[in-house]
Amino acid sequence: MDINFECTMCGKCCHDLKLPLSVDEALVWLARGGDVQFLCDAVPWPEEPAADNLQAQHKRRRSFAASSGDMPVRVVVVLAASFEGACPHLQANMSCGVYEQRPTVCRIYPAEINPFIELKPEQKECPPEAWSADKPLLMRAQQVVDAGTFALIAKSRAADVSDAGIKARACANLEIDAAALANEGLVIYSPPVALAIAALERAREQGDESDDTLQWKVVSNRRETVDTLASIGATGVHYVKADAPAFDYLGFFPASA
Ligand code: SF4
Ligand code: SF4
Repeated sequence: MDINFECTMCGKCCHDLKLPLSVDEALVWLARGGDVQFLCDAVPWPEEPAADNLQAQHKRRRSFAASSGDMPVRVVVVLAASFEGACPHLQANMSCGVYEQRPTVCRIYPAEINPFIELKPEQKECPPEAWSADKPLLMRAQQVVDAGTFALIAKSRAADVSDAGIKARACANLEIDAAALANEGLVIYSPPVALAIAALERAREQGDESDDTLQWKVVSNRRETVDTLASIGATGVHYVKADAPAFDYLGFFPASA
C-alpha cells in the first residue's frame, strides 16, 4: 500500500509531547531554557540474543549494559523535551520558531523511527488532506521511500546507538540509577536545567568508559513484577510515589499493592 503525505502546517503534532532528542539536540534544547527529562527503562539480559532476533538486536544497539543485583540488564535512556500544551517554540501562526534547528524527530513525523512500528495514518495527528493521493509518496509496502525522511530516520537511529554510552555516563553523573521494567512503564527523572547540561557535557568529555558493573534498580508499580525480579536476582523496587521523591513513574498498567 502507498502512503502519500505532505504537512499542512496545522501544528497539531506540536502539543503535549515528550519529544525524543539526541544528546546534541538535548544540549541545544536545554541551552534555550527548555526542560529535558530522562526516561529510563531496563530489561533483564541474562544472555546475548541470537543474531536473527532482530527486535532484541535493535534494543541492544540503543541500550547500555549494567547490572541489577546479580542480573545483567540493558538500560534504555531517552532524553525527552517535555511540555504540556503547545511546544514553547510553536508560534501563533502554527509555524515552528526554531524551524531550521528543530529536532530530527520533528522532521521525521509522521513517519516512525522504530523499525518494528507500522505507520498508521489514522493514529497520527495530521488531518485527512495531508494524506491525499496527490501528495508526494512517503511510503510504499511499509518502506519509507521519501529520500529525505529515509536519511533522517537513519541519522536518528545512528545517534541512538552512538549516544548510549554518553547517556550511561550522564546518568551516573546525575545519580540516576532507577529504570522501569521495559514495557510496563517509564521512570522519569527531571533534573534542573543547569545540572542536566553539566552532566551531559561532562559525559561527552569522558570518552568511552562503558561500565557494565553500574548498579541499577528495576522499578514497577506491580507487586508481582517486583517479586519476579527478586526471584531472578535483580534489585526490584515497588513504586510508591511517596517513597520515591527522586523520580516519577509512568505506569502502563494499574498498580498493585
Ligand atoms: S520544535 Fe518546532 S516542530 Fe518541534 S514540536 Fe516544537 S514547534 Fe513543533
Ligand atoms: S500534525 Fe501533521 S500536518 Fe499537522 S503540522 Fe504536524 S506533521 Fe504537519
